[in-house]
Amino acid sequence: MNLVQPSPAPQLSPELIARFRFIVGDRYAVTDAADIAPYVTEERNLFHGHSPLVLRPGSTAEVSAICKLATQHRIALVPQGGNTGLVGGQTPHNGEVVISMRRLDRIRDVDPASNTMTCEAGVVLQVAQQRAAEVDRLFPLSLGAEGSCTIGGNLSTNAGGTAALAYGVAREMALGLEVVLADGRILDALTKLKKDNTGYNLHNLFIGAEGTLGIITAATLKLFARPRAVETAFVGLKSPADALKLLAISRAEAAGSLTSFELLADIAVDFSVRHGIDVRAPLAAKHPWYVLMELSSLRDEARGTLEAILERGMEDGIVDDAAIAASLAQRQAFWKLRDEMSSAQKPEGGSIKHDVSVPVAAVPDFIAEANAAVVKLIPGSRPVPFGHLGDGNIHYNVSQPVGADGAAFMARWHEVNAVVFDIVLRMGGSISAEHGIGVLKRDELPEVKDKTAIELMRGIKAMLDPLGIMNPGKVL
Ligand code: FAD
Repeated sequence: MNLVQPSPAPQLSPELIARFRFIVGDRYAVTDAADIAPYVTEERNLFHGHSPLVLRPGSTAEVSAICKLATQHRIALVPQGGNTGLVGGQTPHNGEVVISMRRLDRIRDVDPASNTMTCEAGVVLQVAQQRAAEVDRLFPLSLGAEGSCTIGGNLSTNAGGTAALAYGVAREMALGLEVVLADGRILDALTKLKKDNTGYNLHNLFIGAEGTLGIITAATLKLFARPRAVETAFVGLKSPADALKLLAISRAEAAGSLTSFELLADIAVDFSVRHGIDVRAPLAAKHPWYVLMELSSLRDEARGTLEAILERGMEDGIVDDAAIAASLAQRQAFWKLRDEMSSAQKPEGGSIKHDVSVPVAAVPDFIAEANAAVVKLIPGSRPVPFGHLGDGNIHYNVSQPVGADGAAFMARWHEVNAVVFDIVLRMGGSISAEHGIGVLKRDELPEVKDKTAIELMRGIKAMLDPLGIMNPGKVL
């Protein structure tokens, strides 16, 4: 399945390839089709691009030289980090040159006294988390792909993840950036300052821009105090409405120490247990819905608070059963079940994806309405909703009917999207909560976004990338 029809590759002369090769060195200019293959498709096989050249620069200066040369010859570029993006933003659909940022993987500075860390764009998220832990600090961004996604990709997509409830999204964790512009100029907006009111906040433009305005080469990130106590519970309940009530109790009892609150449909848990590697159901009996919740506290009171929340939930008839992780291994097992949820849908055949948000209070109504509408449109289709209830962000995936023709089901991707997006928009929600626009939702964006906002976006794009060589065809 390819959700985007690729167009033919533009000609890149051998001389020009040689000039790009000279910038990064022979070893880091990839031209062999077999070596290029991993850069032009993605894990779920939904997007397949093509490219004559992948460049793997090792420094900001090399990125700058690449952009200068690309500008001189109007060569389109696609920046790429860990290639875990879910909207086709990192794929060269039209034969663009791929700039893989993974070799820019130095942590330039760690400053626990200022609570900052300056990482190059290719640093893998998990490596950044580990480096923060080594100085007794927390870098709280956390997502299923953290073993392979990069800081540059996280910022370019403004990633959310499972701790956004307490710490915010990637944008809120970046104090400053270093960015190479399309013409090769380097914007040095790296700063450790929280307070710096010296004009427009430029670095924020590049966060969430999905590589369409420039290439992020480094970022100064915020660090946080490392929690002393982390407690995790897996809760069985009857409905999303009950989960919402449990969220309210948890917020009242735990306030800022409630760091995750994930809602999981029974079918999503079933898929994960059935198809995930070493995944087990944490509760003895089955329940229609589950919540995976976590409290992180600087003192040792998290266990007592979690128990009080669950007791209150049981008294109120909201919680039917719950297990509190008794060890680090058990906590990791709970999270593994959650992290395997996306890949566990693959063996069930075609899956039409949505990454949407609605006001938190509207989540139960959204799920009920979307389930009814989707099943009416395709009888037998199986909604698999799960996600970050605390942020109103649901990954509303729909698996094909059992035994149906997968390709015919997937051909209805945009039709199903339209039905779901209608409900989302009616509820004041967003068609892209955390994965971005990429190519997947590009055509829908002008329909749903404020007209003036789209005009301003186009104006900013034209100013920063007048030749349109930075990740063309993505977002706008
Ligand atoms: P890539 O996929 O390589 O690129 C993503 C976009 O950023 C592309 O448009 C690319 O051009 C651009 N880009 C990459 N690097 C740069 C750079 N240095 N400068 C400029 N542009 C750049 N996302 C969430 O938000 N929350 C989740 O909970 C979450 N869970 C996931 C779970 C799984 C199992 C998977 C596979 C993905 C998940 N994602 C999630 C999506 C994905 O991991 C994130 O979007 C991530 O931030 C992408 O990082 P990356 O390094 O892989 O970027």
